[in-house]
Amino acid sequence: MLIAIPAECVANETRVAATPETVKKLVAMGHSVIVQKGAGLASALPDAAFTDAGASLADNRAAVYANADIVLKVRPPLDEEIAEFKDGAVLISQLAPYQNATFPAMAAKKLSAFAMELLPRTTRAQAMDVLSSQNNIAGYKAVLLAGHYYPRFMPMLMTAAGTVKPARVLILGVGVAGLQAIATAKRLGAVVEAFDVRPSTKEQVESLGAKFVEVPMTDEEKAANDGVYAKEMSDDYKRRQGELVAKHARAADIVITTALIPGKKAPLLLAADVVAAMKPGAVIVDLAAEAGGNCAVTRPGEVFVTDNRVTVVGSYNLPGMMAGDASALYAKNLLTFLSLMLSKEGFSINLEDELLEATLVTHAGAVRFGQPSPAVAAQSAVPSQA
Ligand code: NAD
Repeated sequence: MLIAIPAECVANETRVAATPETVKKLVAMGHSVIVQKGAGLASALPDAAFTDAGASLADNRAAVYANADIVLKVRPPLDEEIAEFKDGAVLISQLAPYQNATFPAMAAKKLSAFAMELLPRTTRAQAMDVLSSQNNIAGYKAVLLAGHYYPRFMPMLMTAAGTVKPARVLILGVGVAGLQAIATAKRLGAVVEAFDVRPSTKEQVESLGAKFVEVPMTDEEKAANDGVYAKEMSDDYKRRQGELVAKHARAADIVITTALIPGKKAPLLLAADVVAAMKPGAVIVDLAAEAGGNCAVTRPGEVFVTDNRVTVVGSYNLPGMMAGDASALYAKNLLTFLSLMLSKEGFSINLEDELLEATLVTHAGAVRFGQPSPAVAAQSAVPSQA
């Protein structure tokens, strides 16, 4: 098989879907790999590292796609890229399935396209889970960015010139990114508290040495949120949650929001009046900015300072700010996933495998995934962050 690694063409995408390490493994299996010139540069991976690993180089995008049987990508391909694919090629990438309007074009090209975001969260899938590998980086980087904009120390310090108080950090949403944010802020010496709508996160928060902010829940609400992903909550719950979050946000120096509900607009956790009541010098990092934001005043893709001197960070693609490790982990996720179908003997898609069945969005000329929700498509024209 010929496996292609294009340079990502979305602005500010620094990651790449293969590394010399993963290329070496594919070549050792007897397959050929073609990498677009410069594809790895922003991840500190020069072309020579790929050719040393056994890849050949393509001068441009059309050349990398022309004969490829399998394409590995980070971002969903644009319409003009899909047109350059070979008919019937296999695509493995993040495809922002809930916002993606290009699936009919992929089906028309008879692509077998796999959306890595749809991977079930099972033990077997862990090594292929791109949301985990990338959101782990986002959580870490969010704390470092907050530290960058925060005009004070994070840890408590006793110096000859006086004592410095530790920063109070509030993390809203305790999935993969939130857990890493808690751990990173703790390592930097901050006092950390966290909140999530899924009751099972309480134990995880406490095991990292942070305090869990608990919104009282009915048994029905608890039962609805005992799964892997959060459900959208009732207006009454949102009111109770809003009051408690507002109280803790007013006392916080740094708030990092990571709350997402797959396929839906991100829940609003910080209203404008809450931000207006926060301390001057406080920092909000909204990791949900690309999904509409958890904070009402977030400007997606921007960093700005409010009238009351709160810095609101709505930057996109935090994993891309650490492209070296983000690419290395992403490339390994994809190689492990590809190995479900590719071996020395050849390539086959076994739809009895639940991981392949769940992620295959177009195949044999048909779209297998439901159409994007108009509400989500309207509020998020950009590809997903991770
Ligand atoms: P996510 O990115 O979908 O959401 C981030 C967090 O936001 C979640 O914890 C969610 O509960 C929370 N959230 C949603 N609405 C909220 C609200 N209104 N208020 C507060 N918080 C809200 O989550 P994720 O990082 O993808 O992780 C989801 C779960 O999957 C976690 O329990 C994680 O441990 C688990 N997981 C399992 C595997 C595996 O076994 N393969 C891999 C990765 C993650």
